[in-house]
Amino acid sequence: MAECVFCKIAGGEIPTEFLYQDEHLVAFKDINPQAPVHFLVVPKKHIPNLLAINDDDVKLLPAIQKIIVQLTGELGIAEGGFRVVVNTGNHGGQTVPHLHFHVLGGRLLDWPPG
Ligand code: AMP
Ligand code: ZN
Repeated sequence: MAECVFCKIAGGEIPTEFLYQDEHLVAFKDINPQAPVHFLVVPKKHIPNLLAINDDDVKLLPAIQKIIVQLTGELGIAEGGFRVVVNTGNHGGQTVPHLHFHVLGGRLLDWPPG
């Protein structure tokens, strides 16, 4: 989608240092980190949110899980633990309408979220 910031990042229109990229997925640091380590795993395809995943898109989920395991290991937060968050819709606090998985770690995270 032309005006979608994550489509622009995934398509290379906004220069971004990727932690990971392949044919279907990218991962990059959140611009407004909420923890010492805070990155996003994002499908290149414009999928508005979790509710919009179709039978083909669902095949991305194991790959996303694998990237999360790889990057949390590389970034040193796997052992201490981390949180994966997918804000969805208005009550979920989603601000960018392109599916993304937040991964946060490097400090003790509060629960429940606000
Ligand atoms: P959400 O509120 O769950 O939709 O998350 C959107 C996230 O995208 C927020 O944590 C933002 O800080 C992050 N974000 C927005 N624009 C950019 C960008 N250009 N580069 C990296 N992260 C971004
Ligand atoms: Zn998009």
